[in-house]
Amino acid sequence: MVLLPLGTMGEKKCPHCGEWSNWNQQFTDICDHCGKTLGGRDLVYQEKRAAQEQENKENWIFYIKETDSDFVKGMKNAGNFFYTVYISIITFIAWLIAALPG
Ligand SMILES: [Zn+2]
Repeated sequence: MVLLPLGTMGEKKCPHCGEWSNWNQQFTDICDHCGKTLGGRDLVYQEKRAAQEQENKENWIFYIKETDSDFVKGMKNAGNFFYTVYISIITFIAWLIAALPG
């Protein structure tokens, strides 16, 4: 009988040491054999994407930082509010145009 090295559900081949290790489908799970994360390139990609999203959020003109003064926070809140209203109006107009006959 030949055993194929497929592993069972809940096992993953470690990208670092090549041994099969128990895992719970999480890229951050640790290898039983070498103690490194089982995600490998997937984990790196996931972390990179999360960092990118955070960066985009912080680059947003009305992103409220802990270090902002109350005045700046108020201005940014207003900015976010008017931006939301603006998007709502654009969406409404787009809907109107689509709903109009002819
Ligand atoms: Zn390992």
